[in-house]
Amino acid sequence: MFSSIKDKVVIVTGGSKGIGKGIAQIFARQGAKVMIAARGEEEAQRTVAEIEAEGGIAAFCQCDVADWQSVQEMVAATTDIFGKIDILCANAGIFPQTKLIDLEPDDWDKVMDTNLKSTFLCVKACIPSFEVAGKGRVIVTSSITGPITGYPGWSHYGASKAGQLGFLKTAAMELARYNTTMNAVMPGNIMTEGLADLGEEYLNSMASSIPLKRLGAVEDIGNAALFFASDEASYITGQQIVVDGGQILPESLDAIAEI
Ligand code: NAP
Repeated sequence: MFSSIKDKVVIVTGGSKGIGKGIAQIFARQGAKVMIAARGEEEAQRTVAEIEAEGGIAAFCQCDVADWQSVQEMVAATTDIFGKIDILCANAGIFPQTKLIDLEPDDWDKVMDTNLKSTFLCVKACIPSFEVAGKGRVIVTSSITGPITGYPGWSHYGASKAGQLGFLKTAAMELARYNTTMNAVMPGNIMTEGLADLGEEYLNSMASSIPLKRLGAVEDIGNAALFFASDEASYITGQQIVVDGGQILPESLDAIAEI
């Protein structure tokens, strides 16, 4: 689809499953070399094996994206194995659901560290590689939850996802001097292992609230990320795209019932 992706080296944080796995597979199918960064080894190695079975190139690096030392080691390992870094997909994230009344300061910090601080850490760690390469790409997986919508139990999550977009605006300006663009994909409800954990009732009610009447597929996010990473998107930076089947469009329950 995008020939410029061939032979590019891409780090996908949280690439072992869910949306990150979808991103990793789509980039590998375009001929990119993919570094999958996650904490759990078993699932990640399964994803590496699946990519290799399709003829793609992938490796795994154990990494906690909330930890600066670990992120630096992940960047070093990627350079050691693949020789360079062209693209960072800062995707790893968690979405525990806890209402404010029960939300503890430690819960808040864990979500902020994993979702928001990690975005800063991963971008910072990749800058020297982008500088050496003379160009680079960063694609952040944000969400509609926080920047656009709200959902009880996800105040900390929403704040972290909105925070990513706040970070993006200034970071994109600073990255421009390294000929590097930074953009975000804002998924709606995408069918992943993480989302499946929320239960069938949640999934059915969500699907019925989406104009296109289905949850998204991980490929829907992967394709948007692929576009931002391509040469065709080289003049787009500091922007975000909503990929949600129209979920944010209805202004009332009646509006969705009219479809
Ligand atoms: P998922 O299926 O639960 O996968 C999460 C991935 O992130 C796993 O690979 C996980 O691996 C990794 N991860 C979690 N904490 C990590 C850490 N501290 N260090 C390194 N890796 C870590 O989740 P998902 O649904 O694909 O979500 C992925 C991203 O999309 C998140 O940023 C989420 O906010 C965003 N998003 C998802 C949806 C949706 O509907 N699914 C909607 C909007 C936005 P380990 O646990 O092994 O580390």
